[in-house]
Amino acid sequence: MDGIKAAGRALFGGSFNPPHVGHLRLAIEMAETLRPLAAGVELTPCATPPHKVAGGLLPFDLRAAMVEACLDGLPGLSCNRMEAGRPGLSYTWDTLRACREETPERPLFFILGSPDYALLPHWHRGLELPCLCQLVVVPRGEGSEKNFLAATQSMWPGAQPCEPVLPGSRRMRLPGGGLVHFVPLPWIAVSASRIRHRWLHGLNVDFLVPRPVLDLLDAHRETVLAHWLPEPRPDEA
Ligand code: ATP
Repeated sequence: MDGIKAAGRALFGGSFNPPHVGHLRLAIEMAETLRPLAAGVELTPCATPPHKVAGGLLPFDLRAAMVEACLDGLPGLSCNRMEAGRPGLSYTWDTLRACREETPERPLFFILGSPDYALLPHWHRGLELPCLCQLVVVPRGEGSEKNFLAATQSMWPGAQPCEPVLPGSRRMRLPGGGLVHFVPLPWIAVSASRIRHRWLHGLNVDFLVPRPVLDLLDAHRETVLAHWLPEPRPDEA
């Protein structure tokens, strides 16, 4: 298993603006898939996203509180607020490096959807992330295994498929020795942009977000209205 030991950490980063059922099902099923290689999944809200957020971003504390409110009673899932303590833009590189320093003995995984995976060349030190952690990619929409293999080979020429270790997955070994997993979990067609659009237009968002998220949005209505900007109607999810 390439030296993988038990009790690793798995971070799942995102803006969680707001957290929704797509994020939560992914976190639940990923925690199951990664067991026993990782002790659970840490949902890690991005404090200050390096790229502009089109629809307006809620304050970090509200987004983190919404994540925490969803996780009540879900074993193995937690909210990691570490990005809040760091000044400047929240680069995933810095977050993962800080995790390595915190727990150098624990294998580290970083979970991301296929659209974000394809954008790694535009992230700060994105192509170096596999030096810090194993990437775990989940398809979103039409993202297929073929696209994953092609994206991996284009980002890291010379990457080769190798023996998978996670149930139902594919795995690639990168030229520098890094590892990337592809886990084809089912995708729920929901996005935070669509939820923002519906909430701002007074449309029903039941079952798209867990009830505690809706309660927090309603309880902080003024703050939400001051931060979320009307966006063009999202076409998909
Ligand atoms: P927005 O609509 O504002 O772009 P989002 O729904 O993509 O937001 P993020 O917080 O940006 O939510 O996503 C965090 C991570 O979760 C990303 O890696 C993203 O690809 C993944 N993700 C988001 N929605 C889903 C979903 N429905 N199914 C699987 N993965 C998802």
